[in-house]
Amino acid sequence: MIYDFDYLNSQSLPPVAIIGSGPAGVSLSKTLAQHGIPNLILEAGGFDWSDELQETCRGEVVGDEYWELEFSRLKYFGGSSNHWTGFCRPLDSVDFARRDDLEDHIGWPIQKSDLDPFQSDANEILELPSVKERNVDKDLKEVEFAKSPPVNFAEKYRTFFETSDLSHLCLNANVLSLTAENGRVVSIEVSNLAKDTISVRPKTVVLCMGGIENSRLLLWSNEVSPEPIVQRAETLGKYWMDHPHNIGGHVEFTHSVGEFSFPWSYSFFAPTEEAMRRYQILNACVRVRYGREGASQRGIKDFARAAICKSRLLSDVVEETYGKGLTCGTEIELVWEQQARAENRIELSRTKTDGFGVPRPLLYWEKSPLDYRTAKVAMELLGRHLAGTGHGWVRSFDHIIEAKSHPVQGWMAGHHHMGGTRMAERQEVGVVDANLKVFGMDNTYVLGSSVFPTAGHANPTYTIVQLAVRLGRHLALRPS
Ligand SMILES: Cc1cc2nc3c(=O)[nH]c(=O)nc-3n(C[C@H](O)[C@H](O)[C@H](O)COP(=O)(O)OP(=O)(O)OC[C@H]3O[C@@H](n4cnc5c(N)ncnc54)[C@H](O)[C@@H]3O)c2cc1C
Repeated sequence: MIYDFDYLNSQSLPPVAIIGSGPAGVSLSKTLAQHGIPNLILEAGGFDWSDELQETCRGEVVGDEYWELEFSRLKYFGGSSNHWTGFCRPLDSVDFARRDDLEDHIGWPIQKSDLDPFQSDANEILELPSVKERNVDKDLKEVEFAKSPPVNFAEKYRTFFETSDLSHLCLNANVLSLTAENGRVVSIEVSNLAKDTISVRPKTVVLCMGGIENSRLLLWSNEVSPEPIVQRAETLGKYWMDHPHNIGGHVEFTHSVGEFSFPWSYSFFAPTEEAMRRYQILNACVRVRYGREGASQRGIKDFARAAICKSRLLSDVVEETYGKGLTCGTEIELVWEQQARAENRIELSRTKTDGFGVPRPLLYWEKSPLDYRTAKVAMELLGRHLAGTGHGWVRSFDHIIEAKSHPVQGWMAGHHHMGGTRMAERQEVGVVDANLKVFGMDNTYVLGSSVFPTAGHANPTYTIVQLAVRLGRHLALRPS
């Protein structure tokens, strides 16, 4: 059933309280209902965008240029699924593995095979076919993405909540903080837009508030609760990542190189695990879109352009003489894994609070030398493959070759907010365990891309939904 804030005055909570109704919260609620477990989502917003609530997402970014935080996520029923694009793909096995060849790399406490059993549920929720891949040489593979319609969780699941006896949704329930006693969260402080507040007592609580708010709520609750929620908080808010995006150069094809079809005529290439280890780089996706026309349809102008483009010297002369950028072939978009570093983090602002008195988030986000090198090597791998097979040639831009800093061209990152409450084997290096339970707490879980210890190159929502279904089953099967 769907309720409003006043419902919280009159009812005792179902056994599982979920905070947030984005893909994570809704997938978890649905899974719990399938297992017969009553649950309640506390959702800050209503059915639509509200300026006053969205304003609480504002924050400051320090470091590389990044999105304004209030536009990088949405705070109402359905969360950011109200404006996501729908690119989906599971993470690769190598994304879970500990990489001893890279500094400060812990990997995941679970493996890909722990999430594979939840692929068919994730495909059903996100309305996807499964994806394929094939090695094109020992260093490079062609990978496929699936495109969700994209599923808007509020639209798809509104009727489900209206009619379910097990999954309940309480709108206009903005969670302000958690209070812990004796290793349990004993109360959740909730407010509506009129600033009425109430404390509710959960049996089990799962934070599904997105990859910034999960850290923010825990950091703030640790300050105001008499007992911290995250007892060893050295890593809380830290190891934050997005997928950097950049236009890496141009490619001139002699003919199409991809086998997999995708709605937008893209081919996606990624380094193999062997190449990642050999060149000590992270995961990456090199996205090439087929050109405006095939080689056979070219006119004189295109032949002239192709001839100039083939020589770096000639194209530099043309650029200098005519003072404009020369587009050689089609652009290559790079979307790649960012190194998990403690320096990239969410903190609480010491000077600014939102309208509810909660400190605003402060995001430190900067690309590392390894991030730049990964982009450079990924371009080289594609270049070598296309030249070696006679399929075409690649020209990397100077900023990619220099591997120091990248100009901002359109999307600088994917709005993929990962890390901050990462999963780990030990509480010294992470916030939640392999079952997503906060270390040292009996009844507190975190779900979403904030738990990712590494980012791979795949967009995060598919993995979030797999984790949600896995957590739902875990909560249903655990002894009560
Ligand atoms: C423009 C854009 C394009 C994207 N495209 C893709 C894509 O192609 N593929 C992909 O995989 N991902 C994409 N993403 C990312 C994707 O949207 C997120 O991965 C996904 O929405 C995360 O789901 P979530 O449920 O963890 O968090 P969210 O969707 O952020 O949901 C969090 C929920 O928590 C609620 N909440 C927050 N704070 C509180 C509080 N204090 N109290 C109560 N409730 C609260 C929010 O209102 C919201 O309902 C895109 C994102 C953007 C912005």
